[in-house]
Amino acid sequence: MFSTLFFKPFRPLSGVSIASVAIGFISVLGMAGALPAATQPYSGPLFDAHLHYNEEAWNGQTGPHPLSDVLARMKRNNVKAVVANSRPNDGTRALADARDETRVAGVTVIPFVRLYRNRADYDNWFRDESIYEMVQAELARGTGSGPYRGLGEFHLYDSANANGVVAKKLMTLAEDKGLAVLAHVDDVAIDLLMANTPSRGQKMRLIWAHTGIGGASAERVDALFGRYPLLMGELSYRPGLTCEGGRLCPEWRALVLKYPTRFMVGSDTWVNQRWLYYDELMQSYRTWLGDLPAEVARNIAWANGASLFGLK
Ligand SMILES: [Zn+2]
Repeated sequence: MFSTLFFKPFRPLSGVSIASVAIGFISVLGMAGALPAATQPYSGPLFDAHLHYNEEAWNGQTGPHPLSDVLARMKRNNVKAVVANSRPNDGTRALADARDETRVAGVTVIPFVRLYRNRADYDNWFRDESIYEMVQAELARGTGSGPYRGLGEFHLYDSANANGVVAKKLMTLAEDKGLAVLAHVDDVAIDLLMANTPSRGQKMRLIWAHTGIGGASAERVDALFGRYPLLMGELSYRPGLTCEGGRLCPEWRALVLKYPTRFMVGSDTWVNQRWLYYDELMQSYRTWLGDLPAEVARNIAWANGASLFGLK
């Protein structure tokens, strides 16, 4: 089961409030000049740092979202690279092996090994030796787009499980092999996971999925970013991120301006409904990105992810 702390709505956060945005806009009109003029949405390339291609989307034969569908969604949104991971890993391999189709769509696939063969693994991976063996077998096998570049997404619903025997082994493996990890965890677990790496977090490329879906404060995120130089924040579902007009709330605007090389955006297509809203999700990112200095917007939209994985 998923705790309410980790509940995720299907729709994009800012997409649900089109009506309230419209109402807000009308009230802004009545306050002549109270807000600066609306800026143009960011129009450059996007790096989707949190993409799933799970078996219910397409299992290789049937499903509502075959390769042609998901690649068309990426292409029309100018998504040029994706961190792909899926339950089970066949979905990731389907994307990564489709060299011709992804090249035509202009999408670079960066494959991650997901730790889940099925839903039962969500609650047990951190102590299940067979997961460690599965990860090693996947790493040895690789993909049609080359070696896996990371591990995850994985979840910890109880942060103490960051100290599970297999969680510890996987963090050591990731750092030793130069793999990134995509972790859906709370702020306490960030410290625990980092403590379990050989460098005690100083060389660990940990992408914090949602930058704390439970709502860790901006001050807490700031402190963790200060402590771990390669910690990155992925911003899907992040509570409190956007305010009026779909723009960043003040404390988040300050945070991304303080750490312009540390944040990324992602779709988190964890259920098929997220594929249906892929366009709206990317558009909602473009809205707030457009309100940032151009270089910061391009970093968060594209360059931070691209440089993390050595893309041009
Ligand atoms: Zn996810």
